[in-house]
Amino acid sequence: MTDGRERPTPSTPPDRVLSGTFAKDHERRYAHVPFDVPDGVRQLHVRYGYTDRIDSDPLITGGNTLDIGLFDERGIAEASPGFRGWSGSEKMEFTIDEGWATPPYRAGQIGAGTWHILLGPYKVGPRGCDWKVEIWFDPGIRSAWRMSGAVVGHREPDPLPEPRAGWLRGDLHCHTLYSDGDAWPQEMLHTAAEAGLDFLGVTDHNNVGHQLAYGPGGDGLPIVLPGLEVTTYGGHWNAWGTDRWWEFREPEARAVERTMRAAAESGAVVSINHPKPFGPPWEYAVFGGFHAVEVWNGPWPQLNTASLDHWDGLLRRGVRCAALGGSDTHYLHGRDVPPRHADSLGTPTTWVRAEASVPSILEALREGRSFVSESPRGPQLYLDPDRARTGRVAVEVRDGTGATLRLLGDGGVIASSSIDDPRWDATFEVPGGTRYVRAQLESSAGDVRALANPIWAERIWS
Ligand SMILES: [Zn+2]
Repeated sequence: MTDGRERPTPSTPPDRVLSGTFAKDHERRYAHVPFDVPDGVRQLHVRYGYTDRIDSDPLITGGNTLDIGLFDERGIAEASPGFRGWSGSEKMEFTIDEGWATPPYRAGQIGAGTWHILLGPYKVGPRGCDWKVEIWFDPGIRSAWRMSGAVVGHREPDPLPEPRAGWLRGDLHCHTLYSDGDAWPQEMLHTAAEAGLDFLGVTDHNNVGHQLAYGPGGDGLPIVLPGLEVTTYGGHWNAWGTDRWWEFREPEARAVERTMRAAAESGAVVSINHPKPFGPPWEYAVFGGFHAVEVWNGPWPQLNTASLDHWDGLLRRGVRCAALGGSDTHYLHGRDVPPRHADSLGTPTTWVRAEASVPSILEALREGRSFVSESPRGPQLYLDPDRARTGRVAVEVRDGTGATLRLLGDGGVIASSSIDDPRWDATFEVPGGTRYVRAQLESSAGDVRALANPIWAERIWS
């Protein structure tokens, strides 16, 4: 299998050379650099380079990180069909051919006219960023991407604890070679099957090319929720249930909220991702246009308390948004895992009450018929209105022995209980005037092990 990094560079001189400099005040502002493509071209190869290059990891500063993308002759407008792809700072060269392309770029016709290189100076260091882009027409490169990660079968997982009837478990956030991961979509899907997951949200950055490579899943594999991670310079958001790219070039709250609303209105489920330090964080003051917050990204101790605070703040303002979780898995092939990423699918796992179909799972996520736990093995945490008595809630915990249950409202802690049985349940009275109740399980170290979505007042007192 190709590791996805081998890149044949043409030995002939490039047909176009573009160059320039970004100063500090260009940081986080995209530029569109035009170049002309003549008639009859069937393959385009792009290579770029820049000075003082550093990794895109938000922990690293002092140099330059330059992102790249490509628009064809159909133009650079929002939602343009001419968007051929965006590879962040992951790939220093790529090929687009009529018949194939380097992931995540889109293969297809190379139309004559004005094309644009999209350049995003994510970080600009003190000495500025001198950049150069070289473009070849018809260099005759053969695909290094013929191996598409076809996987034959997978190991069945050890038996997992059963959820309640009608519940499914999945992971909502992962990356492949179609952005900054190291595996093919089919490898990711089979790894999700080995983890025992029923569904997988597929969220490469700013592209949808991975969706075709995943296929629909099901039939013995997890169901694929087709999505993407819209990656802007002020924060990331996920959309599932969409097959198009969404605007990412304007890192301003108003533009971001407008795009999120448009995605939601198109039928997608929209979530704010990892609003915590080094997530990278969420810098926009946005209080609507999304359904959910990725309160739990990777293992809990990785600063997810900050995301929980962000979500709690929204709930206390009366913003009705659901918590969900995603592992943000990038690497299946042993590269050192940066500490801010999980190294296994299902860390954490989001559980939904839904039928085994994409629309039903999306609806459960949208409505918060869900909870999040530390792994596909649980613990499981079910929070419901008490059917027997109004003004009370019912909690069921499975596989949570040793944890502490906290029942929380907009006014703070309502109740705490130690879980002393693998099958544990209880009901609790809710103080009058409470606007919502939610629940979480904590370890003795104070880490969250499971997190249930809120019940709002009208369902408690109905
Ligand atoms: Zn992200």
